[in-house]
Amino acid sequence: MGQQRRTSTDTPSPHYRLLGIGAGPANLSLAALLHEEPTIPHLFLDKKQHFTWHDEQLLAGATLQVSIFKDLVSLSNPTNRFSFLSYLHAHGRMYHFLNAQFSEVPRAEFRNYLQWAADTNEDVVFGEEVKEVDFDGMFRVRTNRRTLSAENIAIGVGTVPKVPDFVEPHLGPDHFHVSQYLRHCDQLAGRKVAVVGGGQSGAEAFLDLVNRRGPAAPEQVAWVSRRRNYFPIDDSTFTNEFFMPHYSDYFFRLPAPVREQVSTSHLLASDGISESTLKAIYQKLYHLQFIDENRRGFGLFPNRTVLGVDGANGRGWELMIGHNDEPDQTQSLTVDAVVWATGFRSAPKGFLAPLRGRWETENGEFKVDEDFAAVWDGPPDRSIFVQNAVRGQRGLPDVNLSLNAWRAQRIVDRLHGRAGMESAVSFVDWSAKAGSDSPWSM
Ligand SMILES: Cc1cc2nc3c(=O)[nH]c(=O)nc-3n(C[C@H](O)[C@H](O)[C@H](O)COP(=O)(O)OP(=O)(O)OC[C@H]3O[C@@H](n4cnc5c(N)ncnc54)[C@H](O)[C@@H]3O)c2cc1C
Repeated sequence: MGQQRRTSTDTPSPHYRLLGIGAGPANLSLAALLHEEPTIPHLFLDKKQHFTWHDEQLLAGATLQVSIFKDLVSLSNPTNRFSFLSYLHAHGRMYHFLNAQFSEVPRAEFRNYLQWAADTNEDVVFGEEVKEVDFDGMFRVRTNRRTLSAENIAIGVGTVPKVPDFVEPHLGPDHFHVSQYLRHCDQLAGRKVAVVGGGQSGAEAFLDLVNRRGPAAPEQVAWVSRRRNYFPIDDSTFTNEFFMPHYSDYFFRLPAPVREQVSTSHLLASDGISESTLKAIYQKLYHLQFIDENRRGFGLFPNRTVLGVDGANGRGWELMIGHNDEPDQTQSLTVDAVVWATGFRSAPKGFLAPLRGRWETENGEFKVDEDFAAVWDGPPDRSIFVQNAVRGQRGLPDVNLSLNAWRAQRIVDRLHGRAGMESAVSFVDWSAKAGSDSPWSM
């Protein structure tokens, strides 16, 4: 296939074997693997005018939290032309990348790689929003420009920012979600600021604010977290076995309450803060307090939940805070602005309204089969694949980059009607069931 970018108006055929809705890393992975499958006509649509990847959180020093091998394709097909290695090669920077010896790859470089993969794949179209999907034996996909038909669809619409309900009415320059950080952060200069949220995004915002000097610096910065402390991501060897296909399949077969319990107890395997970020923060605080300025200018408030905000007195915002171990104690912080690093939730899929009620759910998620196809009342050869939307059934890796390439390969194999490659068996014998892969079983 050629390198020419395809626009929505010159697409030769409005019928596809697979239509992808969204072109973030999840569906880009599928698009990359399908690029080498000429027997499966496909197209991916994204509503954004051009590719971005959490661009308003691309702060200086931000790094990828996973291995660079977890690119769009390598863990399924290392020879695919959309690998990170191909990107480096295409841009003449293989040696430089090696010489740079990054212990963690800059997030901006991974973002640029993703953009290259989107821009050089002519089956990915931007500026086209899917408005409605109906089904009459074929999926009829209505966009802001046209109606297309497809035998299968792959939904990869990602996540949207999440803030507590009591914050919603105040959203704007004084209260903004961390996903809009770069849009608003310059207005924090000289003000008292709270960052709420103890994950990687909150840590990066706090670090950026305490790093600011001179007129750009806030007057004071507080960091509030519900977690008992500022905890690191667990990136150790055996924990990473949770991010292998073999474990994912084991997890999928567990009863729902057990899955929920497992994800809760291992949350830090995916949602903790990079050690390098924590160290940079701690060292900066040491400088601030003992070396540079001999003043604190910061406040650390872990193990607390923000219960409400009040701006009624017209002199800033009061944050009402509960202490998790001392429930009879409440604190209040007076600030001028708050950065809400309170996470993301699955993006709404209103475009599926005509099909509502036709698929099964589990705890509010699409119930899926082992190939990430929604269990629905349509014909078996017409599938609604869902990516990054079934964390309850597939666990923590479903929402991050780790199993993107493997999950997309499962979908490709299903479209071919073939059994996929056996996934590498874990070192750990996860299951006690007879017939598990263990050589210790009789
Ligand atoms: C700041 C940040 C850093 C992260 N870093 C890492 C990391 O280092 N490692 C890791 O494993 N994970 C990381 N993650 C988690 C995860 O990998 C990313 O959130 C990733 O972007 C998820 O990919 P996705 O394709 O599912 O969704 P998204 O990237 O959100 O993409 C969804 C796409 O769907 C499009 N869309 C939505 N609705 C429609 C519609 N109706 N029609 C057409 N298009 C539509 C959107 O425009 C969007 O482009 C990070 C997350 C954040 C927020």
